[in-house]
Amino acid sequence: MSFSSLGLSEPLLKAVSEQGYEKPSPIQEKAIPAVIEGRDVMAAAQTGTGKTAGFTLPLLDILAKGKPARANQARALILTPTRELAAQILESVETYGKYTKVKSTVVYGGVKINPQMMRLRQGVDILVATPGRLLDLYNQKAIRFNELEVLVLDEADRMLDMGFIRDIKKIIAALPRNRQNLLFSATFSKEIRELAKGLVNDPIEISVSPRNTTAEKVTQWITAVDKKRKPALLTYLIKENNWRQVLVFTKTKHGANKLTRHLEAEGLKAAAIHGNKSQGARTKALASFKDGSVQVLVATDIAARGIDIDLLPQVVNYELPNVPEDYVHRIGRTGRAGSSGQAVSLVCADEHKLLCDIERVIQQLIERKPIDKFIPVNELPPSRALKVAKNKKPKKPKQDKVEHKDGQRSAENSRGHQPVRRR
Ligand code: ADP
Ligand code: MG
Repeated sequence: MSFSSLGLSEPLLKAVSEQGYEKPSPIQEKAIPAVIEGRDVMAAAQTGTGKTAGFTLPLLDILAKGKPARANQARALILTPTRELAAQILESVETYGKYTKVKSTVVYGGVKINPQMMRLRQGVDILVATPGRLLDLYNQKAIRFNELEVLVLDEADRMLDMGFIRDIKKIIAALPRNRQNLLFSATFSKEIRELAKGLVNDPIEISVSPRNTTAEKVTQWITAVDKKRKPALLTYLIKENNWRQVLVFTKTKHGANKLTRHLEAEGLKAAAIHGNKSQGARTKALASFKDGSVQVLVATDIAARGIDIDLLPQVVNYELPNVPEDYVHRIGRTGRAGSSGQAVSLVCADEHKLLCDIERVIQQLIERKPIDKFIPVNELPPSRALKVAKNKKPKKPKQDKVEHKDGQRSAENSRGHQPVRRR
C-alpha cells in the first residue's frame, strides 16, 4: 500500500515523500480514505502510530478543495489537551500542507490572547486549539463556527482525564450540526465511548492494536528500591548506562522540580516541564532536550502527553502513575514509529498496589531486575497473579449523571445531522 493509492492529492504526496515516509502506517491506511470520503471516524491506536498524519493529511486534502474561510471563521477545528501538543500539531499541519494554500493557526492558554485574536480576524482553514482558550476566544467573538466543516478531537481520552469534558461539550454545542467528526485516542475507555455516542454519526471504527496494551518494541522492567534512595538510583542508572536522552516521569510538579535540582547537583544537564512552567520555559526545555543539550527531561504526565520525540530510547518512571492507563501513555513515549526503547520503573514498597493495577491493565507481569547497591530495606511484595479476563456478558453502560443534572444533553443527543459525504 502506498500513500498515492489512498486518494491524497499531489501537493500532499510531495510533502509526505519529503518527510521520508515510505508507506502509510496501518492507522493511516484506514483513516485517510474514510476521512476523504467524508465519514466520521473513531480511531484508537497507541502513541507513535502516526495518528496525526492520519487526520491531518486528509483534512488538508478536503480543505484545499473548498472555498477559503471568511473573517473570524474556521473550517476545521482540532482540539487537543495541551499547549505542547497543539503547537506540535500545527507544526505537522504546516509541514504536510506546505504545498497547499490551506491556512492554519494555533491558539492556547498561557500566552497573550490579543495576537491570537488578530490572527483569527482573517479567518483560518485549520484551527488547532486547547479547549479553555478556544472558549475564551469564542466568548469574546474572536472566533465563529458558522462555516465549520470538520471537528477533530485528538487525544480525546486525555482531554477527559484532564477534566475538559464540560468545555468540550460547550464547544460542540456551538458548532453547526452538519459536520464531520473525527475522534482520535490512544485508548478507548468507557468514558470515551460515552462521549463518542452523542458526537459521531455512523462512524468507521478503527483500532489497530489491542486495547490498553503497551508497545511491543519497548523493553520494560522494574527495579525495587526504597523511596528515599530513588534520586541516587536514578543518577546511578543514568551514569552507569550512559543514557544520553532520558525522559523521567514524576507524579507532581513539585517532585519534578526537586528531582531536577538533584540531577543538576549531580552534574547532569536536566530540565523540568510541567503545568506551572511558563509556555516559554516549556518550549525551551523541550527544544534543548530534542537537540541534546539537555540530557534528562523531567515531566509530569500532563506536560509530556503527546509529545513526539523521534527515537526516544529511554523512559524512566521515577514514580508510578496513579492511573494505570498513564503507564501505557508514558512508555508510549519510547520506541516510537518502529524504533526500540526501554522503560524502567523505580518502584518502592508503597507503590505495590499501583504496580499490580498496571500489570492487570497491560495483562503482563513486568520483569524485575534487582540493582545490587540499591536492594531495598522495605521489601516490594511479589506481583499478584494475573486473572485471565473472561468474556462476561456486556453490562449496560451507565448514564452520565452530571449531564442530566445540568440539562446539558444537547451535545450528547444531537444526532440529527447527516454525514458529509465526499466523492
Ligand atoms: P501518534 O499521534 O499516533 O502518537 P504521531 O502522529 O505523533 O503519532 O507520529 C509519530 C511519529 O511517526 C512522528 O515522528 C511522525 O513523523 C512519524 N510518522 C508518521 N507517519 C509515518 C509514516 N507513514 N512513515 C514513517 N514515519 C511516520
Ligand atoms: Mg498524537
